[in-house]
This record gives sequence, structure tokens and C-alpha cells, in this order.
Amino acid sequence: MLGYDADLLIIGAGPAGLTAAQYGARAGLNVLVIDQGSPGGQALLIDVLENYPGNAGQFDEAGNQVAQPKSGYDFSMDLLRQAESFGASLFYGSVDSIKKENNIFTARLCDGSARTATAVIIASGAKPRFLGIPGEKEFFGKGVSYCASCDGNFFKGKKIFVAGGGDSACDEARYLSRLSDKITLVHRRDSFRAQKALVKRTLDNPNIKVKYNTVIKEIKGGLKVKSVMLADTQTGDICEEEADAVFIFAGTVPQSALVSGGGLNAALDENGYIITDQKMATNVAGLFAAGDIRSGAFRQVVTAAADGALAAHFAAGYIDENQL
Ligand code: NAP
Repeated sequence: MLGYDADLLIIGAGPAGLTAAQYGARAGLNVLVIDQGSPGGQALLIDVLENYPGNAGQFDEAGNQVAQPKSGYDFSMDLLRQAESFGASLFYGSVDSIKKENNIFTARLCDGSARTATAVIIASGAKPRFLGIPGEKEFFGKGVSYCASCDGNFFKGKKIFVAGGGDSACDEARYLSRLSDKITLVHRRDSFRAQKALVKRTLDNPNIKVKYNTVIKEIKGGLKVKSVMLADTQTGDICEEEADAVFIFAGTVPQSALVSGGGLNAALDENGYIITDQKMATNVAGLFAAGDIRSGAFRQVVTAAADGALAAHFAAGYIDENQL
């Protein structure tokens, strides 16, 4: 019997955490994954996961695509089943703190329980960044949303504003454009940072109107969103436009507080992402980081999965050398 709960404890069940779980379990480790929400993390929000290698849907003999690639939800459920099939376990809970004493990590959960392990992979990802404008908090759930596939359906045929210029804004605007032909995508600069293919699709979409050099200054309404105040970033001109919903995709902030300060002092970059070496190791021996939470990451499902595989591989080496 183990003198601890797991060889490898993984915090976060997104693509990074679940891939790490699979690789760890296949390496013969006793793997426990803890997540406070549904497995999949941010990947759950992906409508069609079209850029994951091999996830292209189905083609007929003539090479025409006849079925769509898997959704982020289906992909995430498959990742979970795959990790579990190799012996990893998932526990639903919220980790409050982690500390390391005598070469053992102890994670304390909000329910008062604790889990111990020889090594930890932190794969708790990132969460949406708020714009911090008046009305954003007030109208959250009343027209303001950070997830098109979760809330888009409430706004069929309505006037929808989307804020942001990255992959998420373009992807989510496309999802919403199937529900309404009145989408306005507002971006603060005059060019998008999203991948070129997504930008082209956005600009070619007749249901999406793009407003460059524009920010949403305020969201107004009564019981629900009724309008947005738009500001031209070059002229300073302000105008009010009717709106039923505002979907915000202004990037993400890392969920790294658990391993910085408190019991552990993982080194972070200036934006709060965890610094690792090429083995996904942090400056804390036995603590690895993978996926969107990692500094310098190219934040894609495929890179999160690759990070997870690397982290589990090198964590297994650490465990072999350090298990008491
Ligand atoms: P992102 O790439 O950081 O883009 C955030 C966008 O929000 C930027 O265009 C930024 O403008 C804008 N923004 C930030 N703060 C703002 C503010 N206060 N007011 C107005 N606009 C603001 O974030 P993301 O699109 O969520 O993507 C996050 C990561 O996930 C990226 O690495 C992305 O590649 C990846 N991702 C990939 C896919 C895919 O492969 N299909 C899909 C979704 C996400 P500026 O451009 O001016 O900075």
C-alpha cells in the first residue's frame, strides 16, 4: 500500500491534465486528477475542434468532408475515458492549497480533505480576462457572456456584440453567426492577432460586421443588456448602439495562485504564467506545469496535450528517483 494517495497528482482536467494523466498511468504510475469543474477545461467551449491533428471528421472517397471534426466536448470526454482506461482516476473537488514537506506534496481541498503525492503537475489553465468596463459585471448572465456555445442560443436572431481580436473572438463570432446575422465584432486595433485562416473566414462572413479601432466603453441596460457605448480609439468619438448581448474574448489570465506564494513558490513570469524548463519542470523540485498556465506556451489544444505528455514523462523520472 502506498504511503501517500498517488504517485502523481494532477491539478486540472483540461487537455494538458488529461493527457498527462494518460501518459502517467501508462508509465505505471498511480495517477489522481483533481478538477473542480467538468473535464475539458477551456476546450469544452470549442464548437468544432478543427485544428487538432487527425480530428478532421470524415471524408468520402472523392475527398469531400462529409462529417465535422469532433467538438471540444466530445474530444474532452474521449480524453477522460482514455486516461481512465489506463487507470487514472478523476476526483471532483477544489484545491485550496498545496505544500511540500519531506519530499511529499499535500493538496488541501475545500471540503477539508487532503491528498498526498510524490509529484504534482499543475495544469489548471487560464480563465477569461474581464474588460473591466462599467456594466460588465452587472450584466453578466443578463446578456454579458464569455462563452458563445454556452449562451449563444439565448440570442438567436438578436443584435450581438463580440469584443476581441484573437482566435477566440473569431471562433466564437463564427459560432454566433450561425444563430444571428447581426453580429458586430469590435476590435481595439486595425488588425487581428488571430490565425490568418480564422481572420479570413471572419471577414468573409456576411453575418459579421467588423469594427476596427473600437472599444466597448460601457454596457448599459435595465434588467438585461440594451446597448453598448462604443469609442473610436483613434478619434475618441463615442456612440451608443443597441445591443442584446455582449460576448467578451479579451484573452485569458493564468490560474497560478495555487503554486505561487503560500506553501509553494513557483517562479512566474511578469503576466503570472508559470516558468518551466523544457521538461515542464518548475523551480520547485517535483512540481511540473503544463498547458495554458505555462509561460511562453503557444496556447492550443495540441500544445497543451504535448505539454501534458512531457510533464508526465519527466514527472515519472522524478518519482523514480525521489519516491520514499
Ligand atoms: P488572445 O490571443 O490573447 O487575444 C485577446 C484579444 O483581446 C486580443 O485581440 C486583444 O487585443 C484583445 N483585448 C485584450 N484586452 C482587451 C481590452 N481591455 N479591451 C479590448 N480588447 C482587448 O486571447 P484568445 O483569443 O482568448 O486566445 C487565447 C489563446 O488560446 C491564444 O493562444 C489562442 O491562439 C488560443 N486559441 C486557439 C484557438 C484555435 O486554435 N482555434 C481558439 C481559441 C483560442 P490586441 O490584439 O490589441 O492585444
